Amino acid sequence: MNDKFTLYNLKVEVIATDKPMVCNHKEGSYFIVEGEDIIFPEHNSFSMYALSAILPLLPAKQRVLHKNDWMLSDSLIACPDPNCGARFKITRTETKEFSHADCTIEPLHKGDTE
Ligand SMILES: [Zn+2]
Repeated sequence: MNDKFTLYNLKVEVIATDKPMVCNHKEGSYFIVEGEDIIFPEHNSFSMYALSAILPLLPAKQRVLHKNDWMLSDSLIACPDPNCGARFKITRTETKEFSHADCTIEPLHKGDTE
């Protein structure tokens, strides 16, 4: 039985705005998301406060979404510091195929929905 599914890989990048950055963000700093892994390039740091605001959105951005879902259209995340001008852009890159059995010991869902 085919138990394959596909997720988007993501790139999350610091974007500058016309408002100054208060935190220690550096324009162009980024990390990559592949499956459950967050990959930070060597010699790159990322604010843990910003990361805490971004993390809940990543699993949804990895998945195919309804065309009317706001989660599909909205890809700029504000820094949690209200005085900071940084934004974080989530971009879908290539897709990657995974096996259900490689991700969980639970059996495949047998219900009437996907
Ligand atoms: Zn900030």
